[in-house]
Amino acid sequence: MEKSEGKILEKKLCDRKKIGWESLNEDDKKVVFKFSDEYIWFLNKSKTEREFAENAKAVLVKNGFKDIADVQSVKPGDKVYFCNRGKAMYIAVIGNKKLEEGLNLVGAHIDSPRLDLKPNPLYEDAEFAYFNTHYYGGIKKYQWTAIPLSIHGVMVKTNGEKITVNIGEDENDPIFTITDLLPHLAKDQMQKKLGDGIDGEDLNLLIGNMPYGSDDVKEKIKLNVLKLLNEKYGIVEADLQSSELELVPAFNAKSLGFDRSMVAGYGQDDKVCAYAALRAILEAKVQDKTAICILADKEEVGSMGNTGMASQTFDYFVSELLNKAGENRPNLINKVYCNSSMLSADVGTGYDPIYGAVSDRTNSAYLSYGVSFDKYTGSRGKSGGSDANAEFIGKIRGILEKNNIQYQLSELGKVDVGGGGTIAYLLADKGMEVIDCGVPVLSMHSPYEVTSKYDIYSAYMTYKVFYEEA
Ligand code: MN
Ligand code: MN
Repeated sequence: MEKSEGKILEKKLCDRKKIGWESLNEDDKKVVFKFSDEYIWFLNKSKTEREFAENAKAVLVKNGFKDIADVQSVKPGDKVYFCNRGKAMYIAVIGNKKLEEGLNLVGAHIDSPRLDLKPNPLYEDAEFAYFNTHYYGGIKKYQWTAIPLSIHGVMVKTNGEKITVNIGEDENDPIFTITDLLPHLAKDQMQKKLGDGIDGEDLNLLIGNMPYGSDDVKEKIKLNVLKLLNEKYGIVEADLQSSELELVPAFNAKSLGFDRSMVAGYGQDDKVCAYAALRAILEAKVQDKTAICILADKEEVGSMGNTGMASQTFDYFVSELLNKAGENRPNLINKVYCNSSMLSADVGTGYDPIYGAVSDRTNSAYLSYGVSFDKYTGSRGKSGGSDANAEFIGKIRGILEKNNIQYQLSELGKVDVGGGGTIAYLLADKGMEVIDCGVPVLSMHSPYEVTSKYDIYSAYMTYKVFYEEA
C-alpha cells in the first residue's frame, strides 16, 4: 500500500523517536550487554568516591596514564591524570592542537547519597551498640531503614597511619542495619508525612549486642565493640574522630528484568556517567583538541570543599598542563576555558509511569531512548540553573547524528514541581560551553537506582565521540 501524503510529511517533519533497542541487531545487543556487565562489576567494587577514584587510577595506570606530578613535560598523545586527595580525578589525553584552542571535557561525579558516621559515632543504649550517622545528600530517610548496610572508608591515626575499611561486602562479613518500627505499633508513625516518618537523628546503625564480660564496666556492649575494632583495625575510640566512614547498601548491582535490559544498583547517580566517561577517555582516539575527563566529589552536597568542583584544584591541574606543555603565559587559562566545551555528565530523571504526574510527557527522558540532554537545570523558572546555548546544542546534535547515536532532550520534571543542579554551572562560569548530558534513572537517590543498558552504552558512545570530535 502506498503511503499517504500525510504519512510521508510526518516522517519528514516530525521528531518521532523509537525505543533504542529496536535499532540494534543481535550482535549490537551483545556489545551493549557486555559493556553493562563490565560496568556492574566496576560499580560493585566502587561504592564510594574513594573506591571509585582508586579503581579508576588502577585502570588508568594499566592503560599507560601517568601521574601529572611525575612528568616533566606533556606533548600530543600523552596521557596524564591528577588524583585529588583520593576522592576526585582529572584525566587528560593531550591533543595535537595547542591547549589554548580549547579542551573537550566530560565531567561526572563519583560521590553518591549515603549515610556518614558522625565524629563521635559510637554509643550504647538498652544494651545495643550503635553508630550515630549524619546523612549525606538528598535522601528519603525511610528508604535507609531495614536494609543491609556496609561500612566503607578510612580511619586515620594521629601518627598518620591510614586504615582502609570495607566491611559488609564479602560473603563472610557481617552486615549492619537501621531498624524500623513494626507496623503493629506504628499507628502514630504512619500518620506522619512521609518525609517525617523517620527522623534524621534516628538513623542509628545497629552494630552490636554482646557484652564484654566484666562486672565493673558501665557500657559493656560498647566496650566489646571497641575491643573488636581494636583487634581488627588497631584503633581506639578517639581514632573515629579522624575517620570518614560511609554507610552504603550492602547488596550488589544486578541486571534487572526478565529481559535483563536494565541495571539496578546503588550509586548509579552518578557512577554510571562516571564509568561511561572513564571508559570513553580510555578508548577515544583523541586527535585535535585535548580531552579531559573529570570525576568530581561532593556534587551531592553542592560541590564545595577542596575535592568538589567549585575548588580551584581543577584550575591547578589545567595550569600544570599549560606549564608542562610549555604554553603558559599570564591569564592564558581564561582563554583555554573560553575556548572549551563540556558535557556535564550527570544522570537525569527517567519517566516513571507510576509517578507520571510530576513529569511533562513531551519533555521527559525515557529509559532506553538514549543519552539525555538537559538544556538547563535549576528549578521554578530555571532559577540557579545553567542554560546551554542553542549554537552549542546544534553542534552536539550534528556530531551525534553523524555518528548515528540516538539521544533525547528533556528536563527534570514539571515546571513548578521542583528541580535540581549539577556541576554544569561551575564550568560554565569559567567560560566554557556546557550542557548536561547523562543516563536517565528511575528511583534516583534511592538505595537501588534503575538505568537502561541501552542508555549506558549510548552515554559511553556520546562521550567518546565528544572527546574525539567536539
Ligand atoms: Mn548527579
Ligand atoms: Mn544526585
